[in-house]
Amino acid sequence: MAISAVKMLDFLEHNIHYHKEILPIRKTNKISDLLKIRCAQCGQCCCDPVIEMTHHDLRRLVKHTGLPAEKLSAFYSNSILESDIDDDGWVKLSYGKRKMGLRKKQDGACMFLSKERQCIAYEARPISCRVFPIDVILDEDNKIIDLELSDVVVEKFIDCKHYRGKAASHKKFMLNANMSQDETASYWKKVEKWNKHPEIGRKTDFLKFMGF
Ligand code: SF4
Ligand code: SF4
Repeated sequence: MAISAVKMLDFLEHNIHYHKEILPIRKTNKISDLLKIRCAQCGQCCCDPVIEMTHHDLRRLVKHTGLPAEKLSAFYSNSILESDIDDDGWVKLSYGKRKMGLRKKQDGACMFLSKERQCIAYEARPISCRVFPIDVILDEDNKIIDLELSDVVVEKFIDCKHYRGKAASHKKFMLNANMSQDETASYWKKVEKWNKHPEIGRKTDFLKFMGF
């Protein structure tokens, strides 16, 4: 019996989804494998726990959304982030050390994640959203020295639904990796400068110091 085109499409869609579920790349550090990781746009990484950002990310979001920096950013304590308090990027404020991240909605999801699990600020999303779920570290000559699927995914802290697909552009990946490295380094330098400031202030003072 002939199967209708609609039924065939249903069948393919269901099975492609099925393969997305059963063929995740759980652990690899080969660039050829990592470039084949495709995002299924499940939105898990947009909810948990915090999307850290630099002043470069924030500037792009301010320009894109027209919203002021204070409305886009939030400052998270270590009780939420559970990361090493001596890491770079902790901002000293009058009420303790905080890391700057994207503001969340009440349900804990990023403020830009729509009900349909789409990013409504996609063109201006932070660099960390662009490279996730890959962790990459470059040397001074922009050569890869460390590359892996994010621990957050490997250790299943989030249920990332990535799947193996057509390889992404190596050039684009390296551009994002370079941008991530450069922008993070310049942000950390500015934070270090702020942290030496004799009068550590509040969030608005920090944002002003960062040029907002
Ligand atoms: S900016 Fe977009 S991609 Fe990044 S966490 Fe928010 S919704 Fe997700
Ligand atoms: S958790 Fe994985 S599949 Fe889901 S949106 Fe994030 S990167 Fe994409």
